[in-house]
Amino acid sequence: MIPFFIQKVFYYTWWKGKMKMCGCLFCKIAAHEVPTTIIYEDDLCMVFEDINPQAPVHLLAIPKKHITSLNDAGEGDHNTLGHLLGVAARVAKEKKIDGSGYRTVINTNAEAGQTVFHLHVHILGGRLLGWPPG
Ligand code: 5GP
Ligand code: ZN
Repeated sequence: MIPFFIQKVFYYTWWKGKMKMCGCLFCKIAAHEVPTTIIYEDDLCMVFEDINPQAPVHLLAIPKKHITSLNDAGEGDHNTLGHLLGVAARVAKEKKIDGSGYRTVINTNAEAGQTVFHLHVHILGGRLLGWPPG
């Protein structure tokens, strides 16, 4: 029999995680609760089209696990982060922008322009991209 206090802690932890997921748009997309054009999906990540594309190809690669920003990625997430970049290169090839070139961007927090607080990699290509970014 699990003591009542431990049960409460488990329940609180479970509920906190659930609430976090419920409020996050990209968690909903990862759970197929919000319709999106999915380009690629596996156990760890998903790639889908940005709703407001800034280039002919503008995709977002996200971990399925909720990670608020790059600041919040722990050592245990390093495999997932590497995987996201590998998948970004794979979809860039599929979209035929690997030869001409493409940009992968992770905005972290307000001054960098992060508006959705679930870590995501922008994959942009299909046009000449200016540098430095604004
Ligand atoms: P950030 O500004 O956080 O770096 O990027 C967030 C991106 O998410 C933006 O490019 C924005 O257009 C995209 N976005 C916001 N809401 C949705 C949505 O509901 N569906 C999709 N597919 N993309 C979204
Ligand atoms: Zn999330």
